[in-house]
Amino acid sequence: MSIANLKPERVWKNFYALTQIPRPSKKELKAVEFAEKFGRSLGLETYRDKLGNIIIRKPATPGMEDRKGIILQGHLDMVPQNNADTPHDWEKDPVEAYEYEIDGQKWVKARGTTLGADDGMGVATAMAILEAKDLKHGPIEALFTIDEETGMTGAFGLEKGKLKGQILLNLDSETEGEIYVGCAGGLDAKFSFPYRTEAAPEGYKFFRITVKGMRGGHSGMEINEGRGNANKTMARTLLPILRDMDGRLASIAGGNLRNAIPREAEAVVAVPAAKASALKKLVAATFEEVKAEIGSIDPAVDMFVKACPAERVMRGTVALRMVKAVLACPNNVVRMSADVPGLVETSTNLAIVRSNGHEINVECLLRSSVDSAKNDLAESMRAVMELAGAKVEYSGGYSGWAPDMKSPILATMKKVYKDMYGKEPLVMAIHAGLECGIIGATYKGLDMVSIGPTLCSPHSPDERVNVASVGKFWDFVVKVLENAPKK
Ligand SMILES: [Zn+2]
Repeated sequence: MSIANLKPERVWKNFYALTQIPRPSKKELKAVEFAEKFGRSLGLETYRDKLGNIIIRKPATPGMEDRKGIILQGHLDMVPQNNADTPHDWEKDPVEAYEYEIDGQKWVKARGTTLGADDGMGVATAMAILEAKDLKHGPIEALFTIDEETGMTGAFGLEKGKLKGQILLNLDSETEGEIYVGCAGGLDAKFSFPYRTEAAPEGYKFFRITVKGMRGGHSGMEINEGRGNANKTMARTLLPILRDMDGRLASIAGGNLRNAIPREAEAVVAVPAAKASALKKLVAATFEEVKAEIGSIDPAVDMFVKACPAERVMRGTVALRMVKAVLACPNNVVRMSADVPGLVETSTNLAIVRSNGHEINVECLLRSSVDSAKNDLAESMRAVMELAGAKVEYSGGYSGWAPDMKSPILATMKKVYKDMYGKEPLVMAIHAGLECGIIGATYKGLDMVSIGPTLCSPHSPDERVNVASVGKFWDFVVKVLENAPKK
């Protein structure tokens, strides 16, 4: 049976149509054209901006004109991933979706590729609302954005003044029964310490210190787990070497992605020959401490030191200043949310410490659902780094979405969900970026939530969507529209 015939058919037939359109991020033009044509074919006001974002407007149904306008938002692009044994031309080939059953649950997945239920399900649901002639709803706008997955450039480029609605339902969450009410914004930090090199003093010996085997992980979602940070551990090891043993730093390399907790770091140091055994003892002792502190969450952590060939070393005080700055720099969770239990409000990841022969660059990723808290953190990090003599650069900032527990649409949705399913939905927020943060920065005062059917393993060829959850999700959206808050 084709997935186009699954129930509710009006959602699945649109989702099936989307699976037939190649739409990898940044190459989603065919999906943009499809959505534009879809809006026009229904005789609805349809707007396509320069980037390819689509807005389709549908008037209120009779008797519902007094309701607040609701924007139904999803993204048109998908993550193009296929298994090595499944050749797939992402600019031409359709996704081959099929239904299967495990443990009495029906799921839909694709043969060897990502399915694109992220966010094809959100788009298909909004399309079904636009087409429907039998539903009751206030004024509707469907907003289909481009390129959510590789930079959210559609959301960033959204024009002001085009959307009229006061409420936004983002249809890109991944668990039925959960309502998201907040996300984090981000800011990239780069601190640089310029240096010159010289030969090490006479009689110095060189050693390579290695920290490895930490778990690392997502710098937002996993920042509150107490995992080790290889750059912090390396700085802690280097401090007594540089400060107390007349040690010199030749090079350092820790971490490689701003949004990943650093798992590994290496440094090459030189110490007077007489201090070589003290250096080895120090590394071993530090390893024992670190293992005792984080071994339960980072069981594979390892640290060792090995003699290595001579290199040029950094001149002057720069290495010690950098190490002190890395030690003093905030890292991990800075504040938990006072409104949403368990949510990290503000955090920073000391992601990268790397020398390149003329400067040491330290890079961090700051996140917060509260923009002013993120800026406050940025200033405290700037203070540390400027005191240590570093050049400070911030870039790539984007807004968070602070949870509003008094949101009218949230109140409606909690009540509707309870009436329908006999239990409260879970109200959650995420410590990572969502399009809501960016759209909300352009359209101030929008009342927003994010919901979706249950997806597993998005962004991988194991991506699948739970069939029953699609039906529950559809019924829920329909009832929420029926009960939308009045103007
Ligand atoms: Zn998505």
